[in-house]
Parts: sequence; structure tokens; C-alpha cells
Amino acid sequence: RFISLEGPDGSGKSTVIRGLQKALQERGVDVITTREPGGSPIAEQIREVILNVNNTAMDGRTEALLYAASRRQHLVETIIPTLDKGQWVLSDRFVDSSLAYQGVARQIPQEEVWTINQFAIEGQLPDLTLLLDVPAEVGLERIQKARGQRQYDRLDRESLNFHQKVRQAFLDLAAENDRIVLIDANMTYDAVIERCLEVIAERLN
Ligand code: C5P
Repeated sequence: RFISLEGPDGSGKSTVIRGLQKALQERGVDVITTREPGGSPIAEQIREVILNVNNTAMDGRTEALLYAASRRQHLVETIIPTLDKGQWVLSDRFVDSSLAYQGVARQIPQEEVWTINQFAIEGQLPDLTLLLDVPAEVGLERIQKARGQRQYDRLDRESLNFHQKVRQAFLDLAAENDRIVLIDANMTYDAVIERCLEVIAERLN
């Protein structure tokens, strides 16, 4: 089984994915976690290029192609071989992040981002996508807390607007795709894990 976790920054994906792996292992599931961009040696090298470059210097379509290239390599080098061994894969982000972020951050039409990603993934979508949803203010507040910044009063309008757009892009994808299940991530960590496990049991058993 292949499950992706998606959500805006501050939705708690990386913490939840570790908790989910542990909970699934306790239930006897052989499951690995991985992440994007990255998740395989070559894909991690592509990640370095994407994240290290001065963002204003990188063209938006170059960036979209690099995310798709990283995803392709992650898929063939890590995800497919793992699934072939009968293990489950939990991926922190997959194709929906590109549809949400590159569309909003780089204003590339979503159909075009989808086209290059279809080329990259050849139809290999997750069996299930858990979308961790939080209000933009909550997500931003969590990020600032994690960075040790003073909270809320420092939220600037621009980043709030950006986060709202990313959140909405994810919500729209969830509304259009039965594969994507919305999880209210504005709950306690334990409640989020419990809800994710419920959805996994409903959808994949
Ligand atoms: O997964 P993580 O929260 O570490 O992602 C870090 C950042 O990478 C996100 O805030 C987002 O700006 C960016 N990203 C992106 N397009 C993707 C995946 C991630 O712009 N496809």
C-alpha cells in the first residue's frame, strides 16, 4: 500500500508521519516512511538544487520540472521497489504538493503541472492521500513557534495570504479526488493519529 501525507506548512505532517509509522508497525504492518522532494539518493541531490538555489534566480517551470524529476527518481528508486517487496510506503508529500504549491507559488496552470507529473509518475498515484488541514493562521503560528519567533503579531499579510491560497488549493484537490481524505489537523496529536488510522482501516482494509 502506498499512502501520501499532504498539507500546508505547519499542518504537522512530519510529526504525524512518524507517529503513524509507529502505530502501523504496532499493528504488524511493515511500513517505511519517505519524503519529497528527496527520498532516494539521486532525488535528494535534486532536492539540494531546488532548496539551495536563490529562489528568485530559479525559473518557476525549471522548479516544477525539478520537483517532477525528483518525484520520478523517488518513485523508481524507492517507492516501487518497496511496494514490490510487500512493504507499505508512507510518503511525506507526493504529486498533490506540486499541484498545490507550484500552481500557487509560481502561478503555473495546474493542468500543465499535472501534465509533466503524469509523465513522471506514469499513473502510479497513492492508494490513499491523507490531507492534514489546518487554518492558515494556525499553520503559520506553528511554524513561527518551531522557529522560536514571536508569534501571531508577527504574521505578515503576504505569508498569510500565501498560506490561505495553498490551503485552498489542497481543499479543492480533495473535493475533486476521492483518493484524498481530509483530516482535521487542528486537533491534538493523538486525535489526528487516531483519525488517520481510522481512515486507513476504512479505505485500505
Ligand atoms: O514538506 P516540507 O514542509 O518540508 O516542505 C517545505 C517547503 O517546500 C514547503 O513549504 C513548500 O514551500 C515547498 N514545496 C513546494 N513544492 C512542492 C513541495 C514542497 O514548493 N512540490
